[in-house]
Amino acid sequence: IQEIQLTSRPTGIPSAENFALAQNTLPEIQDGEVLVKNLWMSVDPYMRGRMMDRASYIAPFQIGEALEGGAIGEVLESKNSEFPVGTKVNSMQGWRSHYISNGNGLTALPVTPLPDQSFLGIMGMPGMTAWTGLFRIAKLKPTDTVFISAASGAVGSVACQIAKMHGCTVVGSTSSDDKVALLKSLGVDVVINYKKESNLIEALAKAAPQGIDVYFENVGGEHLEAALANMNDYGRIAVCGMISQYNATEPQPGPTNLAMLIIKKLKVEGFIVFDHWAHYGEFAQQMGQWISEGKIKWEETVYEGLAEAPNAFIGLFEGKNKGKMLVKL
Ligand code: NDP
Repeated sequence: IQEIQLTSRPTGIPSAENFALAQNTLPEIQDGEVLVKNLWMSVDPYMRGRMMDRASYIAPFQIGEALEGGAIGEVLESKNSEFPVGTKVNSMQGWRSHYISNGNGLTALPVTPLPDQSFLGIMGMPGMTAWTGLFRIAKLKPTDTVFISAASGAVGSVACQIAKMHGCTVVGSTSSDDKVALLKSLGVDVVINYKKESNLIEALAKAAPQGIDVYFENVGGEHLEAALANMNDYGRIAVCGMISQYNATEPQPGPTNLAMLIIKKLKVEGFIVFDHWAHYGEFAQQMGQWISEGKIKWEETVYEGLAEAPNAFIGLFEGKNKGKMLVKL
């Protein structure tokens, strides 16, 4: 079998030298076990945190071992009646071609007309993150003006569409004209290309003269400062991610305007989607319905072959993806 191992801990933006494609062997499966061949794997920004040797909400990756992450595979051999041959399964055993499991941590994909890989994107963790941040954290109301950073990504593009569907006015930010066009086609009211703006505070003030009620924070740094400057009184900030900080080698300066929290009486709440997983069924039912009614669309950027997984991962920090970044094995 093949697997991608972490060979060294990245400093700054990860590079191909931090990873190696390695060969490994698997034993025969035992009673209760299955052999799974991976078909799709996910690369996600949070994996950058696991490449550092520090305590966090999830354990660090180990040097010389295969990385881990969300993956969809198919059971090739089975001695476990719960997962017969041919079953499509969701697992955290990505970054490898095959694996053996006793069934713990495996979920059979439900039978739906949706493509398998949608369970790594819109129907999976990123979709659930968008829904959780908007409804469970920000308590979205139809009258809200919502600002969403990294708006064209896996989480952001879903959050934009959910907020539009809910009746909100939506402002998104992203890094290229191409992505601006994509977001407009998804119905986003105003899109900021932050690479073209020398003053993000002013750009956001122009994009949302009525002010921001909800900020869905994916980026941090200047984006957070601009949001704070433009929030309305009693605004809510759902802190989902801060991707602009993940590769920082030194502590980054904080927003200079944190006093806005007091002046505008803001509510700021960070969240980790896995804490909300008990609500996955509710999310999946709603999202499945929106998809079947044609109310929501999704984009994906696909890299081909396990060997390309490090490039796909690094591409997240270079904005190479539209929608969900995936690797097809
Ligand atoms: P995306 O699909 O949004 O991919 C990352 C995107 O981030 C890139 O396409 C790029 O878009 C943008 N980006 C990269 N570097 C920078 C930078 N320095 N400044 C500004 N933008 C940057 O990833 P996800 O949708 O998977 O994740 C989005 C955010 O949500 C991340 O912060 C992630 O950590 C967080 N997250 C949090 C979860 C939670 O439970 N709290 C769960 C899942 C994700 P562009 O071209 O527009 O710059």
